[in-house]
Amino acid sequence: DAYLAAIESANETINAYIAVTPEKAREMAKASDVRIAAGKAGALEGIPLGIKDLFGTEDIHTQACSHVLDGFKPRYESTVTQNLWNDGAVMLGKLNMDEFAMGSSNETSYYGPVKNPWRAKGSNLDLVPGGSSGGSAAAVAAHLCAGATATDTGGSIRQPAAFTGTVGIKPTYGRCSRWGIVAFASSLDQAGPIARDVRDTAILLKSMASVDPKDTTSVDLPVPDYEASIGQSIKGMKIGIPKEYRVEGMPEEIEALWQQGVAWLKDAGAEIVDISLPHTKYALPAYYIVAPAEASSNLARYDGVRYGLRIDGKDIIDMYEKTRAAGFGQEVKRRIMIGTYVLSAGYYDAYYLRAQKVRTLIKRDFELAFHAGVDAILTPATPSSAFGIADEDLAADPVKMYLNDIFTVTVNMAGLPGIAVPGGLDHKGLPLGLQLIGKPFQEETLFKTAHVIE
Ligand code: GLN
Repeated sequence: DAYLAAIESANETINAYIAVTPEKAREMAKASDVRIAAGKAGALEGIPLGIKDLFGTEDIHTQACSHVLDGFKPRYESTVTQNLWNDGAVMLGKLNMDEFAMGSSNETSYYGPVKNPWRAKGSNLDLVPGGSSGGSAAAVAAHLCAGATATDTGGSIRQPAAFTGTVGIKPTYGRCSRWGIVAFASSLDQAGPIARDVRDTAILLKSMASVDPKDTTSVDLPVPDYEASIGQSIKGMKIGIPKEYRVEGMPEEIEALWQQGVAWLKDAGAEIVDISLPHTKYALPAYYIVAPAEASSNLARYDGVRYGLRIDGKDIIDMYEKTRAAGFGQEVKRRIMIGTYVLSAGYYDAYYLRAQKVRTLIKRDFELAFHAGVDAILTPATPSSAFGIADEDLAADPVKMYLNDIFTVTVNMAGLPGIAVPGGLDHKGLPLGLQLIGKPFQEETLFKTAHVIE
């Protein structure tokens, strides 16, 4: 009731929820009470969560914040949300996001932008919460849920967490099932939690993760008790500092934040080593070929026949065209066009195949660093703090917006786990995040190291 009241009073301003489900929440909470009274409480019994609109939720609004999925209510529940409900969690509603998770500011949503609960000192300017999981991050930061689900294809958990002073982890590719989550770029998409501290994210991830016969890329490995790793010593751990992340034009404050992170980990007994990840500079361009390519294929299903919106036309082709023209936003159309182009005969080898080769090199960079004894890698999470809503500079130049993802996309390209954890405030009083990158399926290392920083 307290969370529903908080949503009632603050959501009109923040716009984090695009659908609130009070009846469902109360019904689930009642069932929790019964289980608690019977001494059968699950790990998340009664914990109220917000769910990113990308997750399929049975009989409940699921539109990936796109107009093209108008009125769509799936007849199934995603594996990740089902896992959470099985552990007793309670759903408060569906959270705003960039349309089909394409964006870094939550401004591509059909439901309008989300306002970051943070503002710069002495300023009235509304800031973005980051994207694409902007609703998830803002809802957690504003206490409109105890935790939220999110997804990360190129930074969409970590960048919004960094912009809102919250914690977000993208686990290793395959750790969580993608079944029932609207697909963006299937070889990069992973689900993960955003919460207020490292411990809460650890508890949530434990529930979300599972092998799933319905997603053959999910991995059959035991899910450890992540919470148990919090508070463990990091003495003797080797932390790599990749020199290629010191990008041109990076604000001094970000460098200072990074050095502060280094100092904290050193104080806790970690050994800091300089490393090189030489193909880092190709990650962003390669990502913006691979991700749109997969998106153009995944989004072909929204044709006005099977789901959501249909705008009738004089024949079926006309209906397709009218539905897509009206149903997809500008950024989604841009990605479909880029993706279709790089996959077309004659260009496939020059763009898509080449990007895939670069992807292998990026992955190998990390493998070599880990092979040389590095346990985790520390970088800034983003090249800046949160920027203004409707920033003219960014609106005019989509590539500038893409540059936001410079520190996060490498992790998805390599399939590795990455966590964003608050590292301090900038001169405007806005949160800045640090990122830790780990070995495949070593999320525990990230939780214990991030806990030293938070
Ligand atoms: N900002 C990136 C993009 O627009 C990442 C999105 C994501 O991780 N879903 O593609």
